[in-house]
Amino acid sequence: MKRPSLPILILIAGLLVSGVILVRVLPRGTARALTSAHAEPSVRAPAVTGAFYPSDPQQLLGEVRSYLDRADVQTAAGELVALIVPHAGYVYSAPVAAYAYRLLQGRSYDTVAVIGPSHRVPVDGVALSDADEWQSPLGRVPIDRDASTTIANSYPKARVIDAAHEREHSIEVQLPFLQTVLSDFALLPLLMTDFSDANCTSLARALADLAQKRRLLLIASSDMSHYPSYDDAVRVDRETLKAIETMDAGEVAATTRRLMAQGVPGLVTALCGEGPVETVLLAARLLGADRVEVLKYANSGDVPAGSKDGVVGYCAVAIYRTRPLADTELNAAQQRRLLDLARSTIEEYVRTGRRLDVAETDPALLRPAAAFVTLKGGGQLRGCIGSLEPSQPLAETVRDRAIMAATRDPRFPPVRAQELPDLDLEISVLSPMRRVTTPDEIDISKHGVVVRSNGRSGVFLPQVAEETGWSRDELLSHLCREKAGLSADAWKRGAALYVFTVQAFSSPAPGAHSHVGNSPGT
Ligand SMILES: [Zn+2]
Repeated sequence: MKRPSLPILILIAGLLVSGVILVRVLPRGTARALTSAHAEPSVRAPAVTGAFYPSDPQQLLGEVRSYLDRADVQTAAGELVALIVPHAGYVYSAPVAAYAYRLLQGRSYDTVAVIGPSHRVPVDGVALSDADEWQSPLGRVPIDRDASTTIANSYPKARVIDAAHEREHSIEVQLPFLQTVLSDFALLPLLMTDFSDANCTSLARALADLAQKRRLLLIASSDMSHYPSYDDAVRVDRETLKAIETMDAGEVAATTRRLMAQGVPGLVTALCGEGPVETVLLAARLLGADRVEVLKYANSGDVPAGSKDGVVGYCAVAIYRTRPLADTELNAAQQRRLLDLARSTIEEYVRTGRRLDVAETDPALLRPAAAFVTLKGGGQLRGCIGSLEPSQPLAETVRDRAIMAATRDPRFPPVRAQELPDLDLEISVLSPMRRVTTPDEIDISKHGVVVRSNGRSGVFLPQVAEETGWSRDELLSHLCREKAGLSADAWKRGAALYVFTVQAFSSPAPGAHSHVGNSPGT
């Protein structure tokens, strides 16, 4: 092989790095808790400016804009949930990254979570940044410290490890693009080296929860194959992209394992940000994403400065939700799966005290959703417990509320094993809540209603109006007094009102004739 040229040395300096050949530079134990607000904002200074991208602001902005101008990408319909972008020196990978960032023009987000591999410092779990701001030649970006705290609270292995962020380039190189295409956003930088399913899934769940509280864009930072020949890179990266297109993190993990086992000359990793990519796919599924689009593929051999030997691959990928969540009606087979899950869960729990694991892969059943599970025995209510916040994947919500309805409804003793054959089940899946400004917006024939005031809240499912025959005003008074413990006229005096719709479906006790369908929920 020829002596590498200067750009190749920069490439190697920047890219001689992957999840596979991580060096253990710093000792463990550098993690600490998020500190309280500083008097002076603490700022993370750029580490790779002048090497990966120009340090002169005008030159940098000019280059970013010209990469964006040359990225010929259609704006697809749908809500953009996540991107996958590369993180090499700009001369190599910025033309590809621009395809993804161009999609952000005209969109706005509260927070952009960028998940990158930590190339220098091993991270147990996930590394958060303790800085208040990150600096780039184009200015400072505020860190969403609130989001960091939320992530740390929901996933204890997500901790501040500033040493991991200090010299790392995989997130830093994204900043100039983000600063150019978005006008106002906060950054949530996350680094990982543990690409296990457990670590990725835990972080994905925490991110999906976070997305309920802010307009969140997810970005996975990853390069593709490292150092095979040009032709091998094209072939290997095509396989990896095919796996990414399935939106199945397990498929991506299996594919990269299979590719690495093939003994491709020079190949040291197929996807250096495999964990970030898998985390983003898992989170996107939880958020109802249903479409993956590969916007651009190229490798370092495609640019004039690059050699065709020992190349690194780059992709720009967009992940969308094409259907609004509220319109996501479950089909009969999906209803059947949830009803079966609820029934088998209750049977197992009542008989053995064991909580079944949920093995579900259907995105419609994995999106976060609130739901109620209602049990009846001999036509009489036997337990009803639900959730109002979409804090878990739907299948897990149904499993956990089924157990609670059977064993924790304070109005009833726990269900006994001999009652199981006689239990009717109904599941009500809630749409997202919408706040109404006047009671006139409430249609009690189809809306469930939530009232909130002074830290108290109450809920009626849409079925209640039909079962009781109450008028709207009667229903609101009963809701305030009996469900929320407020005065009966609180709804007239400023209490917040929210509406939602439900999709309800039921299965009668085993032995009786079974049916599945949309019932009005009587
Ligand atoms: Zn990398």
